[in-house]
This record gives sequence, C-alpha cells and structure tokens, in this order.
Amino acid sequence: MAEEVLGAQEALALVLADVRRYLGWHRDVAGDELQGGIEAVSPLLGASPMPNVEVTVAGASAAPAVVGWAEVEEASGDGGGGHEAGPARRAEARGRLEVRGATDAAPSAEARSPIAPGDPPLLDEVRRELGVCKRCKLCSGRRNIVFGVGNPKARLVFVGEGPGAEEDTQGIPFVGAAGQLLTKMIQAMGFSRDEVYICNVVKCRPPGNRNPESDEIEACQPFLEAQLRAIRPEVIVALGKFAAQTLLKTQTPITRLRGQWREYLGITLMPTFHPAYLLRNPAEKKAAWADLQAVMARFGKAPARE
Ligand code: SF4
Repeated sequence: MAEEVLGAQEALALVLADVRRYLGWHRDVAGDELQGGIEAVSPLLGASPMPNVEVTVAGASAAPAVVGWAEVEEASGDGGGGHEAGPARRAEARGRLEVRGATDAAPSAEARSPIAPGDPPLLDEVRRELGVCKRCKLCSGRRNIVFGVGNPKARLVFVGEGPGAEEDTQGIPFVGAAGQLLTKMIQAMGFSRDEVYICNVVKCRPPGNRNPESDEIEACQPFLEAQLRAIRPEVIVALGKFAAQTLLKTQTPITRLRGQWREYLGITLMPTFHPAYLLRNPAEKKAAWADLQAVMARFGKAPARE
C-alpha cells in the first residue's frame, strides 16, 4: 500500500469505531436494547475491516511500519503489512491503534545494556540495570544491595571487598568499623568522603562475613567494571586481596601487589591493604599509608609529616 497520512477519512473511521464500541458496551451491559442502534450505525461502518494506514518510521530502512486498527499483535510473518486476519480476530482486534517499527532498524542507544562494552554508561544506568539483582546466591541473605556511594565524577575511587553487617543494614559501603578507618584514611589524604567514590567487588553481604566466592565475584564483576567505566576516575585504590585480584585478574597475594602502580581499563590503580585487615594488623598501617601517599602525590597533594 502506498504511503498515506491520516486524513479525514481515517479520522471519521476512528469516530465511528468509538461509537460502535460504545454501543457494543451498552449491549453487553444492558442487553440487546441498543442492538438496533448498532444496526443503524452498521451501514455507515460497512462489513469490511477498518482501513489500515501505513506510515514511514523516521530513519527506518525497511518497509513502512503499519498503523492499523488491530490490537497489538505478534508480527504476522506476512512481510510486515498483512492484515488478513479472519473475522473473529478482526472483531477482537478492533479498537486500538498499532504502530509497528521496521524490523531491521539499528538498536537505539537507550536499548544498549550499560554493562555491555562500548561507550561509558551513566552510573544511574548501571544501577538501574542491576535492579533487584538475583544473579548470584548472595541475593538470598542480603537486606540491601550496597551499590556504592560518593561522587559520580570522582577523581579517586576506592574498591573494597563486600558489605558487612552494618553496610547491609544501611545499604551504604564502608560504614562499620573498617569504614570509619577508611574515612580517616581518605581525610588524611586530603579528600572528603563526598569527593571520592566507594564501592565493593560484590554488592551483597556474604553470609557471616565470609569471603565472596568466585561465582559470586564473577556474577557481580560486570557491574563493578561498568561503575568504573561510568566514573572513569584518575586513580583506583583497590582495598585488599579481593579487590586487587579481581580487578587485576591475578592470584598474586596482596602482600606482593600492594604499593605497586598497576592499570585497570587504562586507569591507574594502587593496591593496598583493606581497612579491616589494618584493624586486625595495625603494624601494617605504615605500609598502607605509604601506598596512599603515593596516590596523594599523583594528585599533587603534599605527603603528611612523619
Ligand atoms: S552480589 Fe552482585 S551479582 Fe550477586 S546478587 Fe548481589 S548484586 Fe547481584
């Protein structure tokens, strides 16, 4: 069918269809009292199905989309323009405009998954994609997904291991005892918590604060990567074994990784000890502080006096 625009004939058909539905509703509700009214109108409508109108979808390279009177239906497989449904189907289908897009149009930017490779996503998009996540077994015991907190345009991002009990309760990373130490470390570096971004390798609390397992890390890792692609910081500080090993895809112990500049997705990365480990091993604070001072130097911040 040649390309057409909705005109007076189609507008009239719309009105008549509304009248028909209205009268049909009265017939269903109030019996057949109004059947005569329908019959009186029927000659105006005719016995044939309502006309279909084709429109061209902007930017589409395929055949025109079809605007018809049918309810939204599965594609008929008849080349995209067929409306050869039988009478029963037509009767059921009548009454709603349908717009079908061309089938070979390129997927829109909005349709692309924010965790798929490509242009950096927005942090909000990544969170929306995560949704009420059930991609791994940690979903069953969590109270809250602990996505991340801080500046979505942060120059400095801290990546930890996973939420603990307090984080699970509040839905915010690093708010327990280890979090308080991390806050002090951030402030000692000359930043505030609001300036930086803080997140974890896994977003749900492992039961009993056990270590995250490899399948859980694997399930959550695309979202961590998407977060970091979205923020695109100048420096990532990987806090502890799981963050460093996950981001660097290595099994090298944190004791050998820490203090050495590395790279993740083209972003400079510094592995150091996790604050929880520092609480248990205060003697290691000096080494961790040396790592953080190296990060400070990257930002032109003066090292603290001994
Ligand atoms: S840990 Fe990550 S992948 Fe697993 S359920 Fe939570 S958000 Fe989903």
